[in-house]
Amino acid sequence: MPAVVSVSSTISEGSSSSLHTACVRAGQPRQDALNAVTTPIACTATFAFGSSTELRDHFEGKTSREEYGRYGNPTVSAAEQKLAVLDGGEDASLFASGMNAVTTTLLALLKKDDHVVLTSDCYRRTRLFVKNILTRFGVAATLVPAGDIAALEAAITPDTRLVVTESPTNPYLRVADIAAIARIKTKQPRLKVLVDATFATPINQKPLSQGADLVIHSCTKYLGGHNDLLAGVVIGDAGLVSLVRDLRSVLGGVLDPHAAYLLLRGIKTLALRVERQNKTALAVARFLEAHPAVECVFYPGLPSHPDHALAVRTMSGFGGVVSFVLRTTLEGTARALDACQLATVAPSLGSVETLIEQPAIMSHYEMTPEERAAIGIRESLVRLSVGIEDEADIVADLERVLGTITV
Ligand SMILES: *Cc1c(COP(=O)(O)O)cnc(C)c1O
Repeated sequence: MPAVVSVSSTISEGSSSSLHTACVRAGQPRQDALNAVTTPIACTATFAFGSSTELRDHFEGKTSREEYGRYGNPTVSAAEQKLAVLDGGEDASLFASGMNAVTTTLLALLKKDDHVVLTSDCYRRTRLFVKNILTRFGVAATLVPAGDIAALEAAITPDTRLVVTESPTNPYLRVADIAAIARIKTKQPRLKVLVDATFATPINQKPLSQGADLVIHSCTKYLGGHNDLLAGVVIGDAGLVSLVRDLRSVLGGVLDPHAAYLLLRGIKTLALRVERQNKTALAVARFLEAHPAVECVFYPGLPSHPDHALAVRTMSGFGGVVSFVLRTTLEGTARALDACQLATVAPSLGSVETLIEQPAIMSHYEMTPEERAAIGIRESLVRLSVGIEDEADIVADLERVLGTITV
């Protein structure tokens, strides 16, 4: 099979050589129900046993099979197996949303008096959960700047059990040096490294092979890819995933089998979609960087990005999200978004549709201008999630809109 299609001649080849095959075939056991080629939706809350003896044997651990929907479902398991294969993990546990995966995982891995280190520029709700909820249960947390390995190392205490990082980050697309973060474990063997790789997808980056213990994706984004489902997954070592799955059985954030079916279907075209989005986003980023109405562009595929060299070394594609600052005001930026005809104004990313948003008034709306400035969210910052429409149409839409900005 051909290796991952490179988005530029300088980027390293992907480590997995059969990504497209895995997207379509992995974790897709041939069920005998109706001889269906696709994975059937097991639309059932509970599962029948042949006799009370069979049920007793199951409870005594003599059999391993589905029993009740909160503990597992065959459609959901098929999607979990596919996701585990794609990220090179031993096991995976699916959840009703990305945040459900994040919160259940952190609750499963941390206890009172533990310390967790978080990199800045990480998903806002994850940061808020750690800061406002976990601290109520006696878990201490430190936030360190994304990309600063020295600060991260300095933040580690004897109680640190977990480093939570994201790569690439939102909205500045900072790329984490996962191997460097994982090396801290040699000094602190009880430390685990968790990477939220939603923006990278398993097509562009494999955090587990770089030393991470667990990887999380909001499957709502690229994995589902069609803006028609919410889901989240945690993937990694079987022992750790089993701890998380056990807590899922208690907290109850299971994925509905219908959504699991949509996810399975979405993943079949994941490699196709992401490779195209990588290519289009790079072209869009180059177009934006050359445009007089654009002050600066953040895209790891551009040599101007602070993590470009790291991205070339550790990723096999730069992703489908491009952030940029317009040479206009908050209102001027909002008007530009409103003038888009192809790009849809909406939160979220990673779908087949090109979406555009203005973090200052959307994802970071509840902050004061001063708070936004403190974390570097400029008023005229725009985040574009490139879809799979024609590159020329996406660029033409932006060109027309940017032409109305007087600089
Ligand atoms: C969207 C997102 C989440 C949360 O996922 P939901 O599916 O919306 O709950 C977590 N992390 C990142 C990086 C995200 O983009």
